[in-house]
Amino acid sequence: MADMKDCGMDCSAKDIAYGSDVFNEKAMREYLAKDTAEALLHTMRDHTPLDPSLANEVAHALKQWGMDRGATHFTHWFQPLTGSTAEKHDAFFEPAGMAETLARFSGKNLIMGEPDASSFPSGGLRRTFEARGYTAWDVTSPVFVKRHSNGATLCIPTVFCSYTGEVLDKKTPLLRSMQTLDRAVRRLMACFGEPDGHVTITLGAEQEYFLVDKALWARRPDLVQCGRTLFGASPARTQQLEDHYFGSIKPRVLAFMEDVERELWRLGIPAKTRHNETAPAQFEMAPMFEELNLAVDHNMLIMETLRNVADRHGLVCLLHEKPFAGVNGSGKHNNWSVAYNGKNLLEPGGNPQENAVFLAVLAAIIRAIDLHADILRASTATLGNESRLGAHEAPPAIISIFLGDELNEVLRRIESATSADAPGRKGGKLRIGVDTLPPLPRDVTDRNRTSPFAFTGNKFEFRAPGSSQNCSGVCMVLNTIVAESLDVLADAIGKLPKGRFHEGLGKILRAVLKDHKRVLFSGDGYSAEWVAEAKRRGLPNLRSVPEALACQIEPATLDLFAKRGVLMPTEMHARHDVFLAEYDRRVRLEGKVALEIARGMVEPAAAGELGALAKALGDLRAVGLEAGAPALRERAQTIGVRLEALHAAAAALDAALDGPPPAIQAAQANLRAAVDTLEGAIDDARWPLPKYRDLLALH
Ligand code: ADP
Ligand code: MG
Repeated sequence: MADMKDCGMDCSAKDIAYGSDVFNEKAMREYLAKDTAEALLHTMRDHTPLDPSLANEVAHALKQWGMDRGATHFTHWFQPLTGSTAEKHDAFFEPAGMAETLARFSGKNLIMGEPDASSFPSGGLRRTFEARGYTAWDVTSPVFVKRHSNGATLCIPTVFCSYTGEVLDKKTPLLRSMQTLDRAVRRLMACFGEPDGHVTITLGAEQEYFLVDKALWARRPDLVQCGRTLFGASPARTQQLEDHYFGSIKPRVLAFMEDVERELWRLGIPAKTRHNETAPAQFEMAPMFEELNLAVDHNMLIMETLRNVADRHGLVCLLHEKPFAGVNGSGKHNNWSVAYNGKNLLEPGGNPQENAVFLAVLAAIIRAIDLHADILRASTATLGNESRLGAHEAPPAIISIFLGDELNEVLRRIESATSADAPGRKGGKLRIGVDTLPPLPRDVTDRNRTSPFAFTGNKFEFRAPGSSQNCSGVCMVLNTIVAESLDVLADAIGKLPKGRFHEGLGKILRAVLKDHKRVLFSGDGYSAEWVAEAKRRGLPNLRSVPEALACQIEPATLDLFAKRGVLMPTEMHARHDVFLAEYDRRVRLEGKVALEIARGMVEPAAAGELGALAKALGDLRAVGLEAGAPALRERAQTIGVRLEALHAAAAALDAALDGPPPAIQAAQANLRAAVDTLEGAIDDARWPLPKYRDLLALH
């Protein structure tokens, strides 16, 4: 629940109204009868269905609460397969007789919506003649008010499905995956003799982004239409001085960040950390982690807020994974963990029992990532992320796990089963009560920035997701594959005879490690050696989006997601089709925009300069001046040759635009090389696009 006391921060500054725009516990107690508030809170906490008889009363309270905050409209707020959020606003007001209106918002409006949804991508699940889609309130995520410059809207987080019940959004499978993981964790805990308890899956999503000046942005059609630069020669100064990361934040940027935070705090989003990132004009914001479903909704709101507030500051926030070639791209590190009755299972514990559970969960995760690295990779496969992953400053497209020296040592000893630890012998180490298992380090502090999936002491940090992605797809996969492995472990552990439990557990862990340790890697993930080594180990290296997405519709994947009740085969196929089609469309769009810029802006600029040089040469000759003529001639010659190259590359791209994506991308890369080379030869004043030098130097 978004509440001041939960934010864990000092929210005492006078103008900070933490959670004031969220229908949180405080608001419920104020606007609802006591019993109704309790019932709603219970529903939210325990993920139980809402009692329909309460809907009208809750709706009435929400309307009142929203209107007290200036809301005139309400909307079901959902997450279609486009990757952003969707909303269709309806006014509270309905005509009531002569020139009068009545504010109306019923339980029916709250619980269910029926947007005419034929234009959302559905992968064929919903044809235009059966256009109806339904949105239904996700009671586990609180209602909030979104403020605009001239009003406010009451937003109801919802799931989105078709008339026949197939899911059309990103939230539903996430919720389903949370359920399957919840069940698997409880089952494993039962195997360890723990009483049934509450499972909490948590996510802390670090968000990287770039800021550019809006006036410069507006003069770059590539940024405006594709979110990234399609051209631009590398300037002399990029990030080689390494002076941006954690550098002091410029006042203009800080003012922006402060506004963003104030807006997020009102929405109960615990924005916590802000800093300069590696590339010039690149930044990061990280909220404190929250329950997964809420954290995902909050990340969507964070991205929207970054964009909106930037606009007010004469800036544009670029969430694209690789807006500029030659400097670092942006990711979204997904910090993920699971707690049982409030105890983080990924934290080595205070007693042998907790540590045995920790090792079992760790083994399950190692198994899951090794077996399903391809599906996890697929969840990060977008065109924007394609140019980031494996590009020497981002984690590779090869999925591997980093555990750190100490845990590696623990696992090595489990595998070789040599250590019989004497109770309480080593200070600072925790015994796990399994004679054949070694003690665990108390504090794991190693860091490896090059690993896509790194253990960071009490959570896993998945670094491959792109900065613009909705976290739900990634976490949905993670939950599902880990649930499957937990069940496999629980199957084995559940069969262990009572007296030989610890010995048997050691054997089970050993077998898992033996089969799946190939996915563990501590070295430099950016190196060429790792690519070769990973190949030897048989780990997939899926570079392009189509390659990465292919595994989604393999029978084993369809079976896994269907059995776990997360996505039915038709739903998975539909998603696969939507993602592939989106990739295809975006590649084509970028190709077209590149061609427009090359032909409509760059070629004329080069031709203009060539003409001017030719005229100047003629003029020199006419007055009999020789000095300078060779220099002008050489300059004209260079531009002429480069212009020819550009012209040919543009024609090749034009021809490729009807072909498959790889052909378009190759032709576009050639065109980019031609344009970027030309940039160095042309008068700065004539160059039609703001240069990297200016875009990256934010003042
Ligand atoms: P670092 O990775 O440098 O240790 P932080 O501790 O600041 O960084 O954590 C980075 C992100 O991970 C933050 O969003 C933080 O809230 C989140 N995080 C911390 N603990 C957990 C957890 N148990 N589950 C999920 N996310 C977590
Ligand atoms: Mg970071």
